[in-house]
Amino acid sequence: MKKVVKFGGSSLADAGQFQKVGEIIRADKDRRFVVPSAPGKRFDGDKKVTDMLYGCYALAEKDQDFSKELKEIRSRYDEIIKGLSLKLSLDEEFRKIEENFKKKAGVDYAASRGEYLNGIIMAEYLGFEMIDAAEVILFYDDGEFDPEHTNRRMAKRLAGVQNAVIPGFYGAYSDGRVKTFSRGGSDITGSIVARALKADVYENWTDVSGFLIADPHIIKDPEGIETITYRELRELSYMGASVLHEDAIFPVRREGIPINIRNTNHPEDEGTWIVESTCQKSKYTVTGIAGKKGFCSVNIEKAKMNSEIGFGRKVLQAFEDYGISFEHVPSGIDTLTVFVHQDEFIDKEQKVVSAIHRLASPDSIEIEADLALIAVVGRGMKSTRGTAGRIFSALAHANVNVKMIDQGSSELNIIIGVENADFETAIRAIYDIFVTAKL
Ligand code: ASP
Repeated sequence: MKKVVKFGGSSLADAGQFQKVGEIIRADKDRRFVVPSAPGKRFDGDKKVTDMLYGCYALAEKDQDFSKELKEIRSRYDEIIKGLSLKLSLDEEFRKIEENFKKKAGVDYAASRGEYLNGIIMAEYLGFEMIDAAEVILFYDDGEFDPEHTNRRMAKRLAGVQNAVIPGFYGAYSDGRVKTFSRGGSDITGSIVARALKADVYENWTDVSGFLIADPHIIKDPEGIETITYRELRELSYMGASVLHEDAIFPVRREGIPINIRNTNHPEDEGTWIVESTCQKSKYTVTGIAGKKGFCSVNIEKAKMNSEIGFGRKVLQAFEDYGISFEHVPSGIDTLTVFVHQDEFIDKEQKVVSAIHRLASPDSIEIEADLALIAVVGRGMKSTRGTAGRIFSALAHANVNVKMIDQGSSELNIIIGVENADFETAIRAIYDIFVTAKL
């Protein structure tokens, strides 16, 4: 068996956490390939090393003195080295980093050093080979990740390797310049490594025991999700359930490799399994509930819109022209509503409105702000009658006015639009009906 294990920043924040990680890896000899993040927060109010690196490099870029900031970063690593009683010196590495910062090697290079240095320590601690991610993860010149080239390069490099540490979060352009993924991107690295190895499992170790049915800030002690499909997870993470980077499922999905989300501080918990497909029924009709606030709806009315070919395209063109992505587009006979992120839209709203007038000649346009979208997701909904009915009666009883309903034909999710102010009440009502009352 081959397992790829990725550890997040809080799992590697200090020497004590490193020791827990060491125990987890040594407990299972199949845990052969390790992807570390940079050291995260040790306590509330602490700083992540990645953020410290961004701050330090910002000074370097302005030709200001950054020696104090770099020293603080160095002390985070030295503390870990000392706590683990390793005989490792990062003198040479920090000399190079300082030199490259002075040469303005780039913000991505700077941020990537968090994972790179943690990789060196991890490899030394475990006695594994360290493989620099810049050698095996490749980006196109336009900054997009190059999956196929990477997969070939990674598979070739790892062939015959028994154990290795591959730092998360970054790779390189073809000319060798470092490029990072977006924040939280070590999850993607783990998935890329698992794909290249055709691993049996991708274990993603973090500080929670998997996904919860709903946000614990809204529901007190919500139940965990045992098994979730990739597609369900896509819907939930898009709507704000943020345990795993939303792009992390794509590489493993191609090979049907399951992801197991685990808790470094509670390794005895089974966590959540993310799988391609399963005959395991989820415990409740819904697998998860997630949502986001801060949307606007742009309601466009035009008599006989339904028979005008190209109307939808012209309206959406106006949004595209101003670089605004839309979230949902429910439509009626004479109306089309476009849901957009309020913060992206607000500065450009009048320009978009006049573009819609110019391109599609509608009768009227009305904008409504401060809306929230809630996704109720579950593979079980397909075979259960009355799910929508139960959701809406629960919302009615909770006095929540539903502003929009959108159910895709996959029957995997129902999206509901409510006012921002009703967001928490709505989530509680839906959770109660399916989980607490088990209806
Ligand atoms: N260290 C990076 C961040 O803080 C990447 C990661 O942890 O996945 O975003």
